[in-house]
Amino acid sequence: MPSRYFLEQPPVGDTATLADSEAHHLAHVLRAKAGEEVLLFDGSGLEYRAVIEKVGRSEVQLRVLGSETVDREASRAVTLAVALPKGDRQRWLTEKAVELGVARLIPIETRRGVAQPSDNALERLRRAVVEASKQCGRNRLMEITPAVRWEQLVGQATSGQTCFVAHPGGSSGSLASQLTQLPAEAPVVLAVGPEGGFTEEEIAAATAAGWKTADLGRRILRVETAALVLATLAIHGAA
Ligand code: SAH
Repeated sequence: MPSRYFLEQPPVGDTATLADSEAHHLAHVLRAKAGEEVLLFDGSGLEYRAVIEKVGRSEVQLRVLGSETVDREASRAVTLAVALPKGDRQRWLTEKAVELGVARLIPIETRRGVAQPSDNALERLRRAVVEASKQCGRNRLMEITPAVRWEQLVGQATSGQTCFVAHPGGSSGSLASQLTQLPAEAPVVLAVGPEGGFTEEEIAAATAAGWKTADLGRRILRVETAALVLATLAIHGAA
């Protein structure tokens, strides 16, 4: 796949402008010159072929040669609701979720959860979404919502979506077997608790609201491992 760059703003007519880190990368790291062709995307689902017209100090101007809708999304809309781990592990989880095709990440606040990401941290995660999308070819950005309290999410999430909460020993059985009963394109919400786990009250609130519990086997997985196993099963396992 040729180099892809993210446009913060969609093209105006046939003119596109890259700014900030995207312009810096193209102009100063790759030392691109006028006349070279690149691919652009703006998160709308379109992919643009463009030629560099002018490399400025902080901006790169391009002329759009053509655009087409290129769909690299998963056929099932998957929402991950996760009590995010700290630091690098949270960034790693975000990057892998984008690669796997997760549509939306909801940071959740739980009883045993650690502090939820600050606005700055959310901004850094959104940057990680752009970087991963450039690399893996997604033309739509995985959404990262502001943090939501678990009690709030359990009530809201069930309308129109099947919701699963990963819990060791969860009584509804393995996720793989539960997914086989759903149409391949049915949207799902998958929740993962913090390192300390969900409390029994939190699990009870979810099952009362219609969530199913999912067991992932005999070993206890770290938060990010559990999240990726769930996403992989939901996206690749039940087709
Ligand atoms: N000590 C905690 C483990 C937390 S692991 C406990 O016993 O509950 C962090 C989260 O990953 C859990 O809340 C759960 O959502 C998920 N998880 C990890 N291993 C799992 C497993 N074997 N089955 C189901 N969920 C698991």
